[in-house]
Amino acid sequence: MTDRLSADLPLTVEPARRRMHAGERARVLDSPGFGQVFTDHMVSLRWVKGQGWCEARLSAYAPLTLDPSATVLHYGQAIFEGLKAYHQDEGGIATFRPDANARRFGRSAARMAMPAVPEDAFVAAVDALVDIDRDWIPTGAEKSLYIRPFMIATEAFLGVRPATRYLFLVIASPAGAYFPQGVEPVSVYISEDYVRAAPGGTGEAKAAGNYAASLLAQQQAAEEGCDQVVWIDAVERRYVEEMGGMNLFFVLGSGPHAELVTPELTGTLLPGITRDSLITLAHDAGYRVTERRLSVDEWRDAATRGTLTETFACGTAAVITPVGHVQAKTGDFTIADGGTGPITLQLRQQLLDIQHGRVVDTRGWVHRVA
Ligand SMILES: *Cc1c(COP(=O)(O)O)cnc(C)c1O
Repeated sequence: MTDRLSADLPLTVEPARRRMHAGERARVLDSPGFGQVFTDHMVSLRWVKGQGWCEARLSAYAPLTLDPSATVLHYGQAIFEGLKAYHQDEGGIATFRPDANARRFGRSAARMAMPAVPEDAFVAAVDALVDIDRDWIPTGAEKSLYIRPFMIATEAFLGVRPATRYLFLVIASPAGAYFPQGVEPVSVYISEDYVRAAPGGTGEAKAAGNYAASLLAQQQAAEEGCDQVVWIDAVERRYVEEMGGMNLFFVLGSGPHAELVTPELTGTLLPGITRDSLITLAHDAGYRVTERRLSVDEWRDAATRGTLTETFACGTAAVITPVGHVQAKTGDFTIADGGTGPITLQLRQQLLDIQHGRVVDTRGWVHRVA
């Protein structure tokens, strides 16, 4: 069976001969957790220098065969994306802004000297996987299918230069509600010993190595009794950048005249698609939205004075996560009463309503797959 990812890229479809038994899958979908069980299929494409993308395949989810000298294992040319497929309340299935993921994947690839996956082929590969594994999309509040496109360098070679062979893969995993017991604020630890990204580095790319470099700081945050690490800028060590793998928003004031501040994209922040979507939603809801730098001192002072009323983090996996308490070597503080603020909940609900097709999508964000 052959399909197409784009005009010049045929997709060979080899349906899995063995799929997870429906009863077992139902048990997984009942309580999916995150990133533990994968669907029956995956998409794979090869890239060879001089030849381009080839051998596009939709086939059974299976282990890879890699040469031990494959470049990715030594020098880390690896990038990824994360997006979700949702059951629509009126029936059907949709993903959220997959074109934005495709564009960002292209920018990440360029930064890591990797080949670009054509954006239409990226979206078509995601669609093909979601379509064949649609029975894996859990139903129920806030449940979804998490989709992980990624690319690795596979050339068997220990020389240091961009590889001449790559593998682009798309896998998927059912995801449960991030907060099964209701939205709970997290506590954060401001990392003063480690930085996530420096000017000129790879902070703007969704590169696997950024995550490897972040784990020790996250471990330190946990040792300090906090849920998450907050990154500050590498140069002045003053400005708040991100929380773990999520972007941050700060609410100044309250009610319809509140202002939302989010750290500007200086080149060391990951440009989140959730961040971008929330800027639009908040603006359309009548709030003033400002992209600027905000220091830890300003955060603490405004929270202490009460002019800063809410802080939340956002990203595809957890949607919106309120921040309740902040721990730093220079002094701890609590945001308002440490609970979840009304604007946090309002924007969270609006975004989920769009993603699940409960309100009309006026912005062309919802991408119908079936
Ligand atoms: C993926 C990611 C985000 C969030 O991006 P979304 O597109 O909103 O999911 C934020 N920060 C980092 C470091 C990330 O890797």
